[in-house]
Amino acid sequence: MLKIDMHTHIIPEKLPRFADKFGYGDFIHLVHHRPGFANMIKGDVFFREIEANCWDPKLRIEEYDQFNTQIQVVCTIPVMFSYWAKPQDCHELSKFLNDDIAETVNQHKGNYLALGTVPMQDANLAIKELERCKELGLLGIQIGSNINDKNLNEEQFFPIFKACQDLDMAVFVHPWNMMGFHSMEKYWLPWLVGMPAETSRAICSMIFGGVFERLPDLRVCFAHSGGSFPATIGRIEHGYNCRPDLVQVDNTRNPREYIGKFWVDCITHDIQALKNVLDLVGSKRVCFGTDYPFPLGDLELGKFIEESNLSTKVQEDIFSKAAIEWLGLDPSQL
Ligand SMILES: [Zn+2]
Repeated sequence: MLKIDMHTHIIPEKLPRFADKFGYGDFIHLVHHRPGFANMIKGDVFFREIEANCWDPKLRIEEYDQFNTQIQVVCTIPVMFSYWAKPQDCHELSKFLNDDIAETVNQHKGNYLALGTVPMQDANLAIKELERCKELGLLGIQIGSNINDKNLNEEQFFPIFKACQDLDMAVFVHPWNMMGFHSMEKYWLPWLVGMPAETSRAICSMIFGGVFERLPDLRVCFAHSGGSFPATIGRIEHGYNCRPDLVQVDNTRNPREYIGKFWVDCITHDIQALKNVLDLVGSKRVCFGTDYPFPLGDLELGKFIEESNLSTKVQEDIFSKAAIEWLGLDPSQL
């Protein structure tokens, strides 16, 4: 069965010292301190250790072969977004990352597809880079669940979403810059609690802000099975009904009507949780994703789905068909 993993992260093996180049900021750089490993350093502070499968395309293909997964859709690691930087500097960083990711795709045709990154803090530059991503052969962009704490319904982002629709570029929304980070650092709570809330924040912002209403052909996929959104849709709809004065200020349509318009990935680590998501959004809107190569990811690449009692048809939707539709791919070219 064809398997397309649409949620994987990659980073160039060597990064310029952007902080030295630009003269400010906590840009990430890499220190290759022992064979096969590197430390990501944010400014002067250790961020995380990564392994060679974060940057080595051949090693990644070997690891994917072990789980019969043919295609990886790669995008950068969210900490690289750097939306906080001066727009022109973030643009330069984005160009570097997008050129690198496009080269990976070109050198390993058949195994890789890719999403770019753009300076979301400046719509003109973001659209310029989006157009360049299209020319490079990238299939869309990955963006954060918030942009410097601004929600995705803010009018300043609308032209970027419109350009994505017009250029037929997919959008992948990934949680980052988690709300409440500093008040719950213990127990990894920003990742366990903050990230699912971030993703629901992004979905609700785009629904209530009318982004999906105004851009019916925009193709958006949300990470980690939509975070806490699917489990709290009842509460969200109830809020829409009971407090229209607070909720229906920019869009009067029921949020439930947008279910089926956007995609989510399948990263739940729990077959019952995945079945609940499938019941809600349908198998045509659940893509196979893993968050490879990070520890919170599904590093057995969908084994829990293959071992489940989900039908072959549903598994085909998850493993390839949903992503083919989201990314606008021609199946005959895969
Ligand atoms: Zn991820």
